[in-house]
Amino acid sequence: MAGCLGITDSSGLQRSCGDCDVCCTAMNVTALNKPAGTRCKHMKTAGCSIYLDRPATCRDWYCMWVRDRHGIFSEAERPDRVGLFLTASRPDPDGQQTIYAHPIRPDALQRDPARRLLSRLRQFVTVCELPYRSEASRIALTFEGHPLEPSAA
Ligand code: SF4
Ligand code: SF4
Repeated sequence: MAGCLGITDSSGLQRSCGDCDVCCTAMNVTALNKPAGTRCKHMKTAGCSIYLDRPATCRDWYCMWVRDRHGIFSEAERPDRVGLFLTASRPDPDGQQTIYAHPIRPDALQRDPARRLLSRLRQFVTVCELPYRSEASRIALTFEGHPLEPSAA
C-alpha cells in the first residue's frame, strides 16, 4: 500500500505492495521508537499518515516479495495473503542464509499456502519457523530484518 515500509519508488523493484501493510506492524522502526511486532501509530486505513515525512527505514526497506527478481514468490504469496513475513539472516562466511518465517496469524504456519511456500524455500535455504508473536520472532525481526533475498536467488 502507498505509505507502507516497502513503498518508496518502484525503480528496481518487481512488485508494489498493493494493500499489504504487514511490515508497518512487523518491523522495528528505531526512529519512531516502534518495536518489532507492534502496529505503527501512523498507520491509517489506507496508508501512512506521515507518508511524505516517514523515516528512512520506511523509505528504504523492501520485503523479499517486492524485491523478487527471480520469480521465487507467486502473486498469491504476498505477506498478507500467505500469512507470513519473511526475513533473512546475514550470509555466513560460506554465503549461506537462514530465512526466518514469522507468522502474522496464529495458525498461518499450519496451513497452506504457507506450508507450500516454506517447503519450496527449503529446497534452497535453511528455513526457521518462529512461533507467532514470540520473543525469538521479535529479535529476528529487529536484527535480521534487512532486505536481502534468499541465497537461492
Ligand atoms: S510486507 Fe512487503 S508487500 Fe507488504 S507492505 Fe511490506 S514491503 Fe509491501
Ligand atoms: S511511519 Fe509507520 S505507517 Fe508510515 S510507513 Fe513507517 S511504519 Fe508504516
